[in-house]
Order: sequence, then C-alpha cells, then structure tokens
Amino acid sequence: LGSSLRGSLDKLQGKSRLSEEDVEEIVKEIQRSLLSADVDVSLVMDLSSSIKERATEEEPPGGTSARDHVLKIVYEELVDLIGESTDIPLEPQTIMLAGLQGSGKTTTAAKMAWWFSKKGLRPAVIQTDTFRPGAYDQAKQMCERAEVDFYGDPEGEDPVQIARDGLEATDDADVHIVDTAGRHALEDSLIDEIEEIEGVVQPDLSLLVLDAAIGQGAKEQAREFDDSVGIGGVVITKLDGTAKGGGALTAVNETDSSISFLGTGETVQDIERFEPNGFISRLLGMGDLKQLSERVERAMAETQEGDDDWDPEDIMKGSFTLKDMQKQMEAMNNMGPLDQVLDMIPGLGGGLKDQLPDDAMDVTQDRMRSFDVIMDSMTDEELENPRIIGAARVERISKGSGQDEELVRELLQQHKMMERTLKQFQGMGDGDMQRMMKK
Ligand code: GDP
Ligand code: MG
Repeated sequence: LGSSLRGSLDKLQGKSRLSEEDVEEIVKEIQRSLLSADVDVSLVMDLSSSIKERATEEEPPGGTSARDHVLKIVYEELVDLIGESTDIPLEPQTIMLAGLQGSGKTTTAAKMAWWFSKKGLRPAVIQTDTFRPGAYDQAKQMCERAEVDFYGDPEGEDPVQIARDGLEATDDADVHIVDTAGRHALEDSLIDEIEEIEGVVQPDLSLLVLDAAIGQGAKEQAREFDDSVGIGGVVITKLDGTAKGGGALTAVNETDSSISFLGTGETVQDIERFEPNGFISRLLGMGDLKQLSERVERAMAETQEGDDDWDPEDIMKGSFTLKDMQKQMEAMNNMGPLDQVLDMIPGLGGGLKDQLPDDAMDVTQDRMRSFDVIMDSMTDEELENPRIIGAARVERISKGSGQDEELVRELLQQHKMMERTLKQFQGMGDGDMQRMMKK
C-alpha cells in the first residue's frame, strides 16, 4: 500500500505537465490506496473523479512540478471531505461517547479525561455500562491511571439512573465524559438505552467511537447513532495497528460531522487530536514530515527540560551511550512507538522498518520504568561507557536499584540492539533523521 502510489508519483518527478495516461495511473493508484484503507466505494469514486478533473484541467503554477501539483490536489480534495478537527472548547461541558462494543469507548473516555486534565480542566468519567461484565473495573482502573475523577456503580442495573447519579456525584468536575454500553451489533435495545441516557445527560457533544479497522459497516452505524442521539464528531481508535481508519471518512460524511480524536494505543496517554494532514498522509501511505517533526519537537522539548548537557544530535555522530538511551526512551515515550514514527518519514517507513528486528525498540512502559530506576543506580562513567559493566557491576547495580540482575542484563542487551539500529539510521545519508533530530 502506498508504495505503488509513491512509485507513480515518483515517475512524475521532473515533469512539469501531466499526460492523460499519467492522470489515469495516479487516479487508479489513489483509488487502490483508499479502498484498501476501507474508504467507502462511492466516496472513492466521487473523490477520484474530482481529482481527475482538476488534475487534467488545472495548470500547475509556475515552478511547481506535476507531482507536487497532483499531490496538492489530492490533499485538497481529501481535506475538503474530511474537514478540520471537531471543535473541542476548553471549557465546562458534557460529552457522551457512543459506539459498538469493543470500539474503544471506555478507553477513549479515560484518554479524553486525561487530555482535558492536561489542559488544566477537571474532568470526570461516568461509566454507565451495566451490560458488559468488568466494565466498571476497567473504567475505574483506567481513570485511576489517568488520575481523573470517576463515577460508576458496580451493582447498578439501570444505566439511566447511573448517568443521573453520576452527574450529581461528580458535580465538582467541569468536564463530564459519559461512557455508554455497546452491543456486538446495532440493536433496538442499545439505541433505546443510549437515547434515554442522552435525554438525562443532555450532552453538549456526542462522539461516535469507531475502530480504525471498521470498513463498510461504518455507514450504518453512523446513520443509526446520528439519527438517535446526533453525532457531532468521530473518534477513531486503534490507529496504532495496521488499519488506516478510512471508515471514519464514511462516518464523517454520513453524519456531516468531523473527526475529533485519534486513539493510538492502549494507555491513557495514547490520544491525539485529529489533524487532517497527518491522517491523510497515513491514509494514502505517504509520509508526513509535518506531524512527525511536531511530535519530535514536542517530545524533545519535554525530554530536554532542565537537561542541558544532552544533545540529541550526538546520537547521529556515532556515540550512543546509556544516557542517550534513557533520553531516547523518554522521547519515544512521548512520541509513540518507533515504528509509528518511522511510518511518518517520507520515503523511509517501509524499507527500513522491515529490516529492524521486531523487538528492537519494543520497550514497554513497565520495563521502561524499571530501566529508568536501574540507570539511576549507575555511575556517570557506566552511563557514558556501558562496555565497562561486568558481572560485579551488574550485581551492584541490581542491589542498588532493587531490580533483578536479569533485568539489568536485559537493559544492556536492549542498549546494544538500539545502538545497532541507530547505526542504520546513521547510514541513511539523506539527512531525514538528522533534520528530524535537530528540530
Ligand atoms: P468499548 O467496549 O467500546 O468500551 O471498548 P474498550 O475501551 O473496552 O476497548 C476494547 C479493546 O480495545 C480494549 O482491549 C482496549 O485496550 C483496546 N483499545 C482501545 N483503544 C485502543 C487503541 O487506540 N489502540 C489499541 N491498540 N487498543 C485499543
Ligand atoms: Mg466499554
């Protein structure tokens, strides 16, 4: 996916004018990309005909290559369809989440609460799912992790009553996020229930939560939920997987709304505001440097706070110490998994990624915390030159940090693997990584 589109676009490099065949080929590749990203067939047809028309009729402005011109047209048409991110004012409000079971509502509720809390508001999650066993515990745990207020009733049987009680109980909060139950399929009982909750809660905004992997089913769901509670925005979850989330376009189109948030993982921090350019790049399998550099910038800014003696560029110069690794892990924690980051670098994602060992950068949050503690027990000398750490030092570090020796060795192993991986970046040569790290 995407590589063939990139291929046909690359063929246009240097051309200043498109032939009819060029346009045909590009449009066909765009259709292929969009269809495999689960975009609705009729939407794809509409899109491709307007892209074709514009690419044929519009002259590339002076100095612009045919390739850039087509890309611009494709972007504009898709942005036009997808629109800007749903407006989420940073003020007191009530938001209700709707969607089928497993779409990611409960996870999203906690994530959004975390997001609002980072914006300085006081959010509370109200869990009204009495249908799914364990729903209460799951929501409660996630809210604890997000450090936000939570209301639920593990014994409750009436979701409407829980919603009512929940609003009262969380009166101190300013943003109320109401999580609802789902079912495996759209049923009258689900729709009735959510309509009733809506009546009590009177949300300012109802968001439809969709799994990125949803395909043609998006249309019916969007229609049903929009008819019953009025959908003002869409959340796409599980974008950390392989699915591109094209079903969201259908939902946005069907509900005449927009995309609000993206879910990119299972922890409460794995949430992003929707941003059209990045999403479209991903949909088409094209890299997006804008989003990447912003994320890198943000991550680096957070990482480097109060740490003047660490320069990310050192990594590109050949030395990669444990100290770098510690900083790198923090940065990655802020940016998201490395393979996602790689996906966003134009012309690089696929190839290099395939060469990486699967677990090269797969450091889970828990392990990262342990690693952090372990590294705190190392001397500066050890951090700068991990090669000197032999068995005796491993034992001392293990005792000092209260972590298993095994874990200390694992950390050293991980460091070696990352060092090797970064060597590959250093060999890239086209400066992408250097630019990215410098930002
Ligand atoms: P609900 O039934 O709609 O409330 O869905 P849940 O919030 O319980 O999510 C269902 C499953 O999807 C859970 O295992 C979540 O951890 C997982 N999940 C939700 N959002 C994401 C996401 O953005 N990425 C990944 N990888 N998993 C997610
Ligand atoms: Mg749930």
